[in-house]
Order: sequence, then C-alpha cells, then structure tokens
Amino acid sequence: MLLILLGPPGAGKGTQAGQLVEDYGLAYISTGAILRNAVKEGTGLGQKARQYMDLGQLVPDELVVEIVKDRLQQPDCEKGALLDGFPRTVEQATFLEKVLPDTGKKVDCVLLIEVAEEELIERLTGRRVCSECGTNFHVTHKPPKVRNVCDECGGALYQRADDSLETVKERLEVYKNQTAPLIDFYEGRNVLARIDGNQEIESVRDQIKGTVDKL
Ligand code: AMP
Repeated sequence: MLLILLGPPGAGKGTQAGQLVEDYGLAYISTGAILRNAVKEGTGLGQKARQYMDLGQLVPDELVVEIVKDRLQQPDCEKGALLDGFPRTVEQATFLEKVLPDTGKKVDCVLLIEVAEEELIERLTGRRVCSECGTNFHVTHKPPKVRNVCDECGGALYQRADDSLETVKERLEVYKNQTAPLIDFYEGRNVLARIDGNQEIESVRDQIKGTVDKL
C-alpha cells in the first residue's frame, strides 16, 4: 500500500502520520524530516537544501526526487509506505508515477487534509519541536509538561527556523502556487480523499482511518 499525505504546512500531516504508520505497518517517508536531518548533519545535500528551507521555498526537484527514489527501494518499504510532504510539485508527482512500477507499487490514496488559513498560521507559529525525537508540541494547544522540554524523551524543544511568521506566509504562498495543483492532478486519477483537518486530532484520525480501511 502506498499512501500520500497532502495538505498545506500546518495541516497536521506529521501528527497523523505517526498513527497511520503504526496502524497499517507502513514505512514513513517525510522529505522534510530527511532534509532537516541532512542540514543538521551538514551533509552535501543539507548544505544545498538549507538556503531554500530557511526561506520557506521548495528545495529543487532534482535533489528531492533522488532521496525518495533511494528511500522507496529500502526493505522496510516492502509492506507499504506513507509519503509525507512528497510530492510537492506536479513534476515530483510525475516522477513518482515513473519510478513506482519498478517497486511494484501504485498510489492507493492521497489524503488531502484541509485547514483554514488563519488556523494554519496559528498552528505553525506556535509549534515547537523536540530536537532529539522530533515530537511536535504547541505553545497553547499541546504544551509540554515542563516548558521547552519534550514529554517523550526529555530533549530540548525548539522553534523551526521556517515557523517564523514571515516564513510561514511564504510557505503558504508556495503551497498555493506549486503544491495545490496536485489536488486536480490526483483527483483526475481518482485517488484523492478530502479530510476535514479543522477538527480535533482524534476526529481527523477517525476520518483518515475510515478512508484507508475502505481501500
Ligand atoms: P515540511 O517538514 O514537509 O514542512 O518541509 C520543510 C521544508 O523542506 C519545506 O519548506 C521545503 O523547503 C523542504 N521540502 C520538504 N519536502 C519537499 C519536497 N517534496 N520538495 C521540495 N522541498 C521540500
């Protein structure tokens, strides 16, 4: 099974991904997380990607598609995979269609999580992330028990450089212009499922589960 999480930054894709991966035994492929890790480790990829990420812009397709191609060939993807944050352009989606037959997979469902724009801004600018395990928190909606300390592993929380107000606005523009065209693209292939992401986390999870269980 191959699932794609689509939606604007802040829609809750990362939050829902954890449960989905567990429920359906899927490998988790988040291009954002892979790129952030490359930046943290200062690899060649990280050095090239950083300038785009800090500005809230997309990393060039040719860098990202290689990451996904390699990742999909790893053994843990045999049972299935969940793509989070990829594809983000029609070019990336077209690339995916080209490489998938070699892995014996097809896109089974694209879960589009829709959220109102004011809500996205509030969620993103208040988001805090664990520097050790990557768990997400929110200053008002999901505060950690101890300020700036991760409930899961005790790691220090930080605000992503691209979660500042100015960069969040840029990321939302980039989504509208470059990623939203994928909605028509996947609707045309009859694999798009719309999820109301304005609801509580549990309710969004139930909508997703209801959709995936029917596949
Ligand atoms: P995310 O964690 O998915 O919000 O991604 C964080 C940042 O990583 C984005 O703002 C982009 O700069 C970069 N990025 C992640 N995935 C992609 C992708 N599929 N194509 C291009 N850039 C990406």
